[in-house]
Amino acid sequence: MKAGMGSIRLPQKVRQILERITGAGFEAYAVGGCVRDSLLGRVPEDWDVTTSATPWQVKELFPRTVDTGLKHGTVTVLLGGEGFEVTTYRVDGEYEDARHPREVTFTSSLEEDLKRRDFTMNAMAYNEGTGIVDLFGGAEDMERGLIRCVGDPRERFTEDALRMMRAIRFSAQLDYEIEDRTRAAIQELAGNLKKISAERIQAELTKLVTSAHPEKLRIAYETGVLAVILPEFHQAMETEQKHPHHHLNVGEHSLLAMEKVEASKELRLAMLLHDIGKPACRTADPDGTTHFHGHAAAGEKMARKILQRLKYDNHTVDTVCRLVLYHDYGNGVVPTPAILRRAVNRIGEDLFPSFLAVRRADILAQNPARLSEKLENLEAWTACYRGILERKECVSPRTLAITGTDCIALGMKPGREIGEALQGALELVLEDPERNQKEYLCGWVRDHYLK
Ligand code: ATP
Ligand code: MG
Repeated sequence: MKAGMGSIRLPQKVRQILERITGAGFEAYAVGGCVRDSLLGRVPEDWDVTTSATPWQVKELFPRTVDTGLKHGTVTVLLGGEGFEVTTYRVDGEYEDARHPREVTFTSSLEEDLKRRDFTMNAMAYNEGTGIVDLFGGAEDMERGLIRCVGDPRERFTEDALRMMRAIRFSAQLDYEIEDRTRAAIQELAGNLKKISAERIQAELTKLVTSAHPEKLRIAYETGVLAVILPEFHQAMETEQKHPHHHLNVGEHSLLAMEKVEASKELRLAMLLHDIGKPACRTADPDGTTHFHGHAAAGEKMARKILQRLKYDNHTVDTVCRLVLYHDYGNGVVPTPAILRRAVNRIGEDLFPSFLAVRRADILAQNPARLSEKLENLEAWTACYRGILERKECVSPRTLAITGTDCIALGMKPGREIGEALQGALELVLEDPERNQKEYLCGWVRDHYLK
C-alpha cells in the first residue's frame, strides 16, 4: 500500500447532518476531498456532503442555512458556528470556454454525481449505512499512488482545463504519479489553460509550491503546462549553467532550492523565482563558462510582473520581490558587524531572517563540492546577525537617536533635505553604533546642513 489507508470517522456534526437527511427519506454522503483525506489518514479540512435532496428540501430540514450557491445546488448548513456545504447530486451540462458548465442539472443518481468529479480519488462517497462508494477504483489508484481522471481524460480536461493543474498539484501534495493516459491528455491540452483565470491558476500554483514535493512542478514543464502559465520559468528549465558553483540548470537548481526551504508561500515563491533573471542575463566566456551579471535586479522586475499577472496580493509580491532582489547580497563576503548592520538596513529588519533562509536554500541547491565553505560563511553571517540583535544595535530610523523633529528644532526646513540628513546620520551609526547619541548626531547635522 502506498499510503497507510486510514478509515473514515465522521465528525459528530457531519453524522448528524447525514442522519437528518436520510431520516427524511433522501440519500446523503460525505464526498470528495474528505473521503480521500480520511483514507490517507489525514484529518480533512472540510467535509462536503452530497445528497439526493434538492436545495429547498435541504433548507427545510435545518433551522440555519445559507444560500451559498442555490443555482449549483449548494446550501451551507450551520451547526454550532460551523458551516457544512450540502450539494444536491448534479450533472454538469456542457462546458463553455473550458471553464464553466453552461448549466447544471440535478439528478437523483449518486453515480452521475460522482462521474462529474475530476479524479478517481476525489470521486468516492461514504456514509455509515452504505460504507464507501467507490465506482471508479479510487481506493485502488490511491494504493498504487496514481492520479487518474474519471472517464476519458481528454474530455475531462476539455470541460475544465484547471483540472490539469489540479492533477499536478495533487501529485506534489501526495507524491503520486499521474497515470499515463491522464498525463498524455495534459500534454495534448495544456494550451487550454490560457482560458483559465489568473486567480484559479494562482490558487493551484500556491498549493503546488507549498506542498511536500514542490519539485513536481517539473511535470508542468514536461507536459507543456509551464510554457502556458509561467513561460519565464519554462525558459529557466532550458538555461544551462557551466560554472564551478553550479551542477544543475537554472530551473532544476530553483526546484531543488524550493525543497530546501520551509513550506511558506513567500519563501517557496522566492526560491522559485530567485534566479528568474538569469536566462536574460546569460553571457559565456570563450571556454563556455557562463555568467549572469545583474540577474538579481533583472529577476526582481520579472518576478513582480509574473506575480502581478498571477494576481498575488501586494504583500506577497513585495516580500517575494525583495527576497529575489537581495538573494545574492554580500555573497561570500566575510562578515563584520558593520557589514551586517548595513545588510539588515538594506534588506529590512523584518525580512532578514527570511533572507538568511533564502541564502541557505540557494547554497544547498548549488554544487555540493563547495558546500561546507559556503555554509560556514553563512554561519558566520548568522552569528554576526545574532550579535547585533543581542546588543540591540540601531539598524534603521526606528531606533536612531535623532528624528525629523530634532532636525527642525536645529533650524532645518521641512523637506527632502531632512530625509538626507537622517540617512547620513544613520550611515554613521551603521558604521559605529557608539555614535547613536542625540548630541553627537545633532552636532553632525549642524556641521553638514546648517552652515
Ligand atoms: P483541497 O480541498 O485539498 O484543495 P479538494 O479535492 O477537496 O482539494 P475542493 O475544491 O475542496 O478540492 O473540491 C471538493 C471536491 O469537488 C473534489 O474532491 C472533487 O470531487 C470536486 N471538484 C473540485 N474541483 C473540481 C473540478 N475542477 N472538476 C471536477 N471536480 C472537482
Ligand atoms: Mg476540499
